[in-house]
Amino acid sequence: MIAIIGGGISGLSTAWFAQKRGLEYVVLEASGRWGGKLQTEKIGDFVVEGGADSFLATKPWAAALARELGLGERLLGTNDTLRTIYILHNGQPVALPEGMQLIVPTKFWPFLKTPLLSLSGKLRMGLDWLIPPRTDSADETIGSFVRRRFGQEALEKLGEPLLSGIYSGESERQSLLATFPRYRELETEFGSLIRGTLAQKNKQAQANKSGKRPVMFQSFPGGTQELVDALVEQLTGTLRLGTSVTALGPSRLGYSLSLSDGTTLAAEQVIVTTPASVAATLLQPLAPRVAEQLDLIRAVSTGTLSLGFRTEDIKRPLNGFGMVIPLREKRPINALTISSVKFPSRAPDGHALVRVFFGGSRTPETLEKTDDEILAMAKVQLLDILGITAEPLFHRIFRWHNANPQYDAGHLDRIDVLEKSLPPGLHLTGCAYRGVGIPDCIHQAEEVVGRL
Ligand SMILES: Cc1cc2nc3c(=O)[nH]c(=O)nc-3n(C[C@H](O)[C@H](O)[C@H](O)COP(=O)(O)OP(=O)(O)OC[C@H]3O[C@@H](n4cnc5c(N)ncnc54)[C@H](O)[C@@H]3O)c2cc1C
Repeated sequence: MIAIIGGGISGLSTAWFAQKRGLEYVVLEASGRWGGKLQTEKIGDFVVEGGADSFLATKPWAAALARELGLGERLLGTNDTLRTIYILHNGQPVALPEGMQLIVPTKFWPFLKTPLLSLSGKLRMGLDWLIPPRTDSADETIGSFVRRRFGQEALEKLGEPLLSGIYSGESERQSLLATFPRYRELETEFGSLIRGTLAQKNKQAQANKSGKRPVMFQSFPGGTQELVDALVEQLTGTLRLGTSVTALGPSRLGYSLSLSDGTTLAAEQVIVTTPASVAATLLQPLAPRVAEQLDLIRAVSTGTLSLGFRTEDIKRPLNGFGMVIPLREKRPINALTISSVKFPSRAPDGHALVRVFFGGSRTPETLEKTDDEILAMAKVQLLDILGITAEPLFHRIFRWHNANPQYDAGHLDRIDVLEKSLPPGLHLTGCAYRGVGIPDCIHQAEEVVGRL
């Protein structure tokens, strides 16, 4: 029997892959609901995401799982005619210029004309064509990489909000190899990020005969919760909610799990999918060296605030999915998404759903504020950025404590060591290790079951 600790997307998909192989399993979830950081709420006709709202379509594992579960027809792509992302620049939302592939410019004129960067900042980015590539394979921070290829201005205005912001992280600590390994590959192969990205773009254009822009993110009409619900419905093993694993010890069979209801459970194999800090506590008596390494994986807390409005309440609408806010703008919020633009059917006709992100490494103290204080803080920002003076029709705050693992430089080496040091029959998987996105969690779940 396999005991799977944690009932987020990692734990549930681990159970799914175990079930496909005919293995007997039990999933133990401490809280009163399945899904962990996937949580969707219906508020009237609004579909409100508390945590993750979508998954990257270029990483195939989430969509593949959805199809296996019979959700293929319900996969919903983003509204890609309005894919533009904005960056707050000197207090004003500025669209990323056409041709930007995240931080890499691939079209000359739109890049030259953008007010986002000074002329010297643009020229410095252009030096990427000439700067020789790094020749060793050691990890480095996002800060070091972007500064080396594109310069300090590009780091502050593009790299920090676009590459670190999405990890709620700090560019001077975040690992390049664990979060954007493709950039190092492009640098090594083509000697320049711009050259590599252009080559990649041409290759994709040739392969894409339809000429249609491939969809970037996917979800479901009922939100990411649909994936969780389908898993729970189709898992035939033992699923136990409200059951926290409080300790792990050796047993004749393999391992003995102490549970919060005072009972114990014996299992031949244990797969821990909890946050790394919980895994560290559980593994301490069995594998103290692994626990020590797990304790080094930092996590930060973040929050989301969703607000419903009438469309006309947004006096200065964004013609895109949302906006990231560089650290240098010194705002108390990190980003905002217009969820009703990003996906169809997130808000009823004539209405808009706005999601504000706060906390993380920039403003961890925001999580400690009351709901009223967070709402008041967000309203000031929404007035300033989107011109919203109207009261929201509703608001909903989700706080995610220690929920965002931080992949600091050297992260992958640490995970290699940690995995090699695990005692037989004990496994780790989840967002703290080899990818935080939903597809990465599912992929890691499949791999861990493959290793059993
Ligand atoms: C605000 C936010 C937005 C995000 N947006 C996106 C996005 O748009 N796209 C994307 O791909 N990813 C996104 N992510 C990341 C993604 O949601 C997570 O990485 C992923 O859901 C993590 O799943 P998991 O199962 O590994 O961990 P979790 O969801 O944390 O699940 C772990 C589970 O373990 C349980 N647990 C803890 N301790 C115990 C114990 N002792 N015994 C039993 N159970 C225990 C917890 O209750 C929890 O349910 C976002 C994350 C956040 C916080």
